[in-house]
Amino acid sequence: MGRTTGTLFMVATPIGNLSDASARMVSTLKEVALIAAEDTRHSQPLLNYFGITTPLCSLHEHNEQSQSVQLIEKLLHGESIAVISDAGTPGISDPGQVLVNLAHQHGIPVCPIPGANAAISLMSVSGLKEGQFLFVGFLPSKNQEKTALLDNLKVAPYATVFYEAPHRIKATIKTLCEVFGERRQVVLGRELTKLFEEVHRTTLKDARDWLDHSPHRLKGEYVVIIEGLAIDAATLDITRHDKLLTALTEKLSLSDAVKLAVTITGEKKNFLYERALLLTSP
Ligand code: SAM
Repeated sequence: MGRTTGTLFMVATPIGNLSDASARMVSTLKEVALIAAEDTRHSQPLLNYFGITTPLCSLHEHNEQSQSVQLIEKLLHGESIAVISDAGTPGISDPGQVLVNLAHQHGIPVCPIPGANAAISLMSVSGLKEGQFLFVGFLPSKNQEKTALLDNLKVAPYATVFYEAPHRIKATIKTLCEVFGERRQVVLGRELTKLFEEVHRTTLKDARDWLDHSPHRLKGEYVVIIEGLAIDAATLDITRHDKLLTALTEKLSLSDAVKLAVTITGEKKNFLYERALLLTSP
């Protein structure tokens, strides 16, 4: 007779406010055989607070491959395991997906225990277009990769969500301003769910002044959302090239606008370029 495997639970924990913990978070963490935590010392106060005495092991970016193999062995032997990260939902810009991927390969059931997430929290108070968004997480640290990624994102019709460290927030807003243009709306979420929470919506140009306004704004954790490129359905009608080009050249450089118009309409580049020149000349 085959042995029943355990279940792998991906358990969200609060991102700063313990009252955001769910009853299911607590019961799951109490019931599993083992909790795999990103940083066991960091998670201990949370577990103490809720009277959770389940054994802990570590699962972080430096041991994720080897530790995941060992955890799969335990799951195959019938032990259930919960993964938690330092804050929020594990596997989202946090360790856990290597283990989840292996669990799927071994037919081990994977169960989400939903809860706090910094990106979704800020998106819910952004007021941006029906909550549609692209989640990027942290930007690449290498400049070339960063610029290439942002260059693709600037024409996306959806809001884009980034995570950023406080020591890089000013430089990142400057880069976003250069790539997306000063007029694009941005939503900054600082220290969400914590005592000094701030949610501020403005233009990328004014975001720089807002950050400079007080030194404490260069501390704390940030989520940044940039509004998507606004193109309405009528504008997307490929027979109305002029309207499309007018909308695009308002937000983008001439060459970027033409490039995007070529992709959308399938028209010849030279034709669209000439139209765009005509439309933008004073
Ligand atoms: N897994 C987490 C989640 O579900 O949101 C994200 C982990 S990621 C390593 C950490 C980043 O999330 C921080 O650098 C910051 O950008 C963002 N973050 C986490 N907590 C936050 C908070 N309370 N307020 C604003 N941003 C936060």
